[in-house]
Amino acid sequence: MKLISRDRAKNKKLSRFFTGIRCLHGHLCERFVCNGDCVDCHKIRRRNWVINNYTKVKKYNRRRYKLNPKYFKEICKMWRQKNRAYDRTRINKWRKENKEAIRAFSANRRSRERNAKGNFNKDNILHLFGKQKGKCAASNCRTNLITYHVDHVKPLVRGGSNWPRNLQLLCPSCNASKGIKTMQEWVQ
Ligand SMILES: [Zn+2]
Ligand SMILES: [Zn+2]
Repeated sequence: MKLISRDRAKNKKLSRFFTGIRCLHGHLCERFVCNGDCVDCHKIRRRNWVINNYTKVKKYNRRRYKLNPKYFKEICKMWRQKNRAYDRTRINKWRKENKEAIRAFSANRRSRERNAKGNFNKDNILHLFGKQKGKCAASNCRTNLITYHVDHVKPLVRGGSNWPRNLQLLCPSCNASKGIKTMQEWVQ
């Protein structure tokens, strides 16, 4: 980085200057001409503010999105392209922590495609999990659910709904064996 004093930067109408002197927090970086603030310190403060004011930021972004969805989507796309690696780790982390939400999301989409009525969310699934005490819903199985499938008691293709009351959690092998059978057909 080239050394340039604040006054010279100001005369050249630059927004930043660099003296080669570390800030109080040890950053060797440019400073803003307008207030003499260290750029790295500013970035850190801003990031912390965003983290501490998460709901505020979310609300603000939602409002901005509503005003101009196209523009907002474009900005997000550009940001993602610039921060691809970061974005991927963030998405993977979110996926790991929100398995139920993803399950609900994809099942709701499938049911919409089949014109079935109803929807459910991750809380419904967690509730089911508790109700079944973490075990497969099949009475002759009752395996502890490590992984599980959200099953429609009356299958969607047979006119069943996508409401929580038509759902149960099955272990993968029970789910595969039940397929598109109703409970009665499956038990027989
Ligand atoms: Zn600093
Ligand atoms: Zn089972």
